[in-house]
Amino acid sequence: MSSPSIVWFRDDLRLADHPALRAALDRGEPVIGLYVLDEQSPGVRPLGGAARWWLHHSLASLSERLRERGGVLILRRGPAAEVVRDVVTDAGAGAVFWNRRYGGPERDIDARLKESLRADGVEVASFAGSLLFEPWTVTTGAGTHFSVYSPFWRACLSLPAPRAPLPEPREVPASGRAPASESLDDWGLLPHDPDWAGGLRETWEPGEPAARRRLREFLAEDVGAYDRARDRPSAGATSLLSPRLRWGELSPHTVWHAAIEAHDTSRFLSELGWREFAWHTLYHFPELATKNLRREFDAFPWPRLKPTALRAWQRGETGYAIVDAGMKELWHTGYMHNRARMVTASFLIKNLLIDWRHGEEWFWDTLVDADGANNPFNWQWVAGSGADAAPYFRVFNPELQAQKFDPDGHYIAQWAPEHRGEEGLAPAPIVDLKATRQRALAAYEQVKQAARSGN
Ligand code: FAD
Repeated sequence: MSSPSIVWFRDDLRLADHPALRAALDRGEPVIGLYVLDEQSPGVRPLGGAARWWLHHSLASLSERLRERGGVLILRRGPAAEVVRDVVTDAGAGAVFWNRRYGGPERDIDARLKESLRADGVEVASFAGSLLFEPWTVTTGAGTHFSVYSPFWRACLSLPAPRAPLPEPREVPASGRAPASESLDDWGLLPHDPDWAGGLRETWEPGEPAARRRLREFLAEDVGAYDRARDRPSAGATSLLSPRLRWGELSPHTVWHAAIEAHDTSRFLSELGWREFAWHTLYHFPELATKNLRREFDAFPWPRLKPTALRAWQRGETGYAIVDAGMKELWHTGYMHNRARMVTASFLIKNLLIDWRHGEEWFWDTLVDADGANNPFNWQWVAGSGADAAPYFRVFNPELQAQKFDPDGHYIAQWAPEHRGEEGLAPAPIVDLKATRQRALAAYEQVKQAARSGN
C-alpha cells in the first residue's frame, strides 16, 4: 500500500522551483496537491476582492498543469490545520510538505500542525521557497533585525547567494484514490452582480505560464529602460511581476537568477530587496497592518473620518489629476504604478488627514498584488510610521509630481482624461494643497512631542 505525500500549496502557485513539491517527488510515493481556502483561522486576513479574482484563475491554471502531468489538486475550505489533518487521514498520507509562510498567525498554524502531525507519525518538512533570505538569517552585528534598508540589503548580499531555481517536474504521479475535492466555482471567488472584473480580465492572465512569459519579455525588452524610466507611470518600464511574486507563480529565486543571467545591473534586483525587507519586517512585527511600527505615531491626532473625502479618493474624484488617474488605474486594472501609489497614499494621509490604515484596507481590497507585507509596509513607509520611512514632513505635491513624472500627460490622459479636457469637466479640488499641508505638519508636531517625551 502506498502512503501518498501531500504538497500543501499556499502562496506558491507554481510547479517550477517549488522545493516542497520537489521533496514530495523525491520521496517516491504518489503526490496529492492541496490548496486550503482558510477564511476561519483566527488572525488570518481574509483576501480582498481583486485578490480572490486572481486566486481563482491561478488555481485553475495550477490544477490544469498538475493534471497534464498526471497529478491532482484537491481544493478544500475551512480552518487550515483541521482541513490538512482531515486530508491526511482521508488519503492515508505518510508525509506533508510545504514552503514556509512568514506572517504571525500563519506561522503559528504551521508550527502547531507540524507538531501534531509528527506526533501522529506523519513526516512533515517545510522549505524556503518564497523569500531569497530567511528572516532569521539576516541580523545586525548586535543580533537584532534591521530598521534601515541599505545596511539590511548589504547584509543580505554578504550572505551566500540565493540558490539556483529547481527545474519544473515533467510528471507528478498522483494516487489512484485521491480524497474528494470541492469545486473551484463553488467557492465564489469571482465577482458577480455586479461583475466588476472586466478590466482585470483585459489586463491580466494569471497563472505560471503567463508569469514566465512576462519575466522573459521584461528581461529581453524592458529592463534596459528600468533605471531611467521606472518612476514614470506611463513608460511601461517596470516588470509588472508583483502579482506573480505575490501569488508565487514565480519564485524570487527564479526572478533573481534570470535577471543576473540577463546581465541586469539596474535597480531592479534591489527592488526585490525591498520585498525581502518588507517581509522580514512583518516577520519581526506581525501587527504591521494594524499598528504603527514607530509607536510615537500612536500620538498622531487623526481627526474624525470624513467618509465623503475617503470616497472621493477611492473613486478618483479628488480634483487632482495624478491622484485621480492612479485611483482609476487601480479600480480598472487591480494595479497601480509605484509612483502613483506613493502620491495617492501621501494625498490620503497628509492632505486628507485620513489614517493610513483606511488606505491600506482599500488597496488590500482592490490590488491584484495585495500583499500581506508589502502593502502595510509601504503604507507605513509613506505615513512616516514605518521602517526606514519617508519623513512625515515630506508631503508630495500632486501637481509637481505630475509635472515631474508625467511631463507629457500620457498617464493622466489614459486614466483621468477628464482632467485633460475642457474646463469644467474635471472635479473641483476637494482640498487646498497649501492649507492641508500646514494642517498635516501641525498635527505631526504632536508625534514629535511624543517622541521627545519617550512615548
Ligand atoms: P518593479 O519595479 O518591476 O519591481 C520588481 C518587484 O520588486 C515587484 O514586483 C515587487 O515584488 C518588488 N517591489 C518593488 N517595489 C517594492 C516596494 N516598494 N516594496 C516592496 N516590494 C517592492 N507591492 C506589492 O507587491 N503589493 C502591495 O500590496 C503593494 N502595496 C503598496 C502600497 C503603497 C502605498 C506603495 C507606495 C507601494 C506598494 N507596493 C506593493 C510596492 C510597489 O508599488 C509594487 O511592488 C510595484 O509597483 C509593482 O510593480 P512592478 O512589479 O512592475 O515593480
